[in-house]
Amino acid sequence: MIRYYSTNRHRTGPGLKPFTGRVGFREALLMGQAPDGGLFMPDRIPRLAPEEISSLKGEPYWRAAWLVGRLYWEDSIPAGDLERIVREAYDFEVPIEPVDGRRHILRLDRGPTASFKDFAARLMSRLMSYFHSGGGRLKVLVATSGDTGSAIGEAFKGVAGVEVYILYPEGEVSPRQKRQLDTIGGNVRALVVKGKFDDCQNLVKRAFLDPDLARLNLTSANSINIGRVLPQSVYYVWSYAQLAEKGEEAVISVPSGNFGNAFGCELARRMGLPVRRLVMATNANDEFPDFLRTGVYRKVEPSRKCISNAMNVGHPSNLARFFDIYGGSLDRTGEVIRPPDLDRMRKRIFSLAVSDAETRQTIVEVYRRHRVILEPHGAVGWKGLEEYRKREGDDCLAISVETAHPAKFPEEIESLLGVHPPVPPGLRDLDRRKGEPIPLSGDYASFRDFLLSGDPPA
Ligand SMILES: *Cc1c(COP(=O)(O)O)cnc(C)c1O
Repeated sequence: MIRYYSTNRHRTGPGLKPFTGRVGFREALLMGQAPDGGLFMPDRIPRLAPEEISSLKGEPYWRAAWLVGRLYWEDSIPAGDLERIVREAYDFEVPIEPVDGRRHILRLDRGPTASFKDFAARLMSRLMSYFHSGGGRLKVLVATSGDTGSAIGEAFKGVAGVEVYILYPEGEVSPRQKRQLDTIGGNVRALVVKGKFDDCQNLVKRAFLDPDLARLNLTSANSINIGRVLPQSVYYVWSYAQLAEKGEEAVISVPSGNFGNAFGCELARRMGLPVRRLVMATNANDEFPDFLRTGVYRKVEPSRKCISNAMNVGHPSNLARFFDIYGGSLDRTGEVIRPPDLDRMRKRIFSLAVSDAETRQTIVEVYRRHRVILEPHGAVGWKGLEEYRKREGDDCLAISVETAHPAKFPEEIESLLGVHPPVPPGLRDLDRRKGEPIPLSGDYASFRDFLLSGDPPA
């Protein structure tokens, strides 16, 4: 059985209590993070045989999720239940677009909120519902500054036995994001907080620590949950199987912010996927490419604002997982407790920072040459791949990930390309949806009373 340990287990020092135990998947999923604030990691990475990977050629996406899921949850979810869960989670298309020669775009932008976060959120929500047994409904709390909240909210919509509360800061989300959050409805409630994103996060953190709320079955669905990371290894396996011939190697490029998506690829590699190089392209938040070059880790603080805004992260939380899997240890504040094997990291990972000017130029060039529309995040990934090819002279099979739909950035695309990107199903009727958020003052006592009563505070 695979168990999960904490990335902070090596930390020592006054007042620190490293978590040196191991927990099962169910506990890791429902706890969200380790008691010492570390991230959960599997103590063994299961292997996929080459024939298992190639057997996915021509198969629907959910088959790959089932195959990978079986490796992790064989002893906790019966095969038939897992099939039902993944078929329901992955009921949308996953296009692979040939661009040039052996280079492809993998579009992870056709889920209900048109970003790749749907892939993880839709499976994690169903796993939480499945694993939550015992009395009472599970209450999921999420603090969001935009996209994550709607992906989580949509993913939990209608999921049995679960209520979701999304806290977002008044005036800090775009009007479009606000509509997406306010109108999910059903078992998903939007709470608009007087304050900033940090205030939302603090309310959620205090609620988890509050003994008065212990009986409420509170859990979090934040980006470091292991239940969000594992599903993010599946699309690498599936897309590779569609394109590869006879076990050949592939280069995979992932536009990266918090590094959860890229870590999914690192896991897939260790499960047996022949990844020659993982390209991790960042925007101007260049702490990781700098670290690979110099061996010195310096977070970017405050983080830099770029047009690929979902990647404006100056200290990626999932970097602790990369450190761990390469034999090192990094704490939450960005302090290196133990350096990773840098030589090995450099051999397997290529990382590069892409400026906003280069991002825009890439969107224009790719459209002009290939008639393929990229949005800013996907363009960062594509530019990373192109630079890798130029420097290494490598012309092997390549997959670059597009993480959001271009229709989420209509002004940028229109000003660069003079075209309107077609709107995907998930965003189509947004203006007609109805729903109002529940206002919260930002004061903890009223949030607690609200959770206890299930009603808005007067
Ligand atoms: C969240 C997000 C990213 C960054 O993914 P990480 O897993 O945080 O590296 C990239 N693109 C889009 C559109 C996103 O929403």
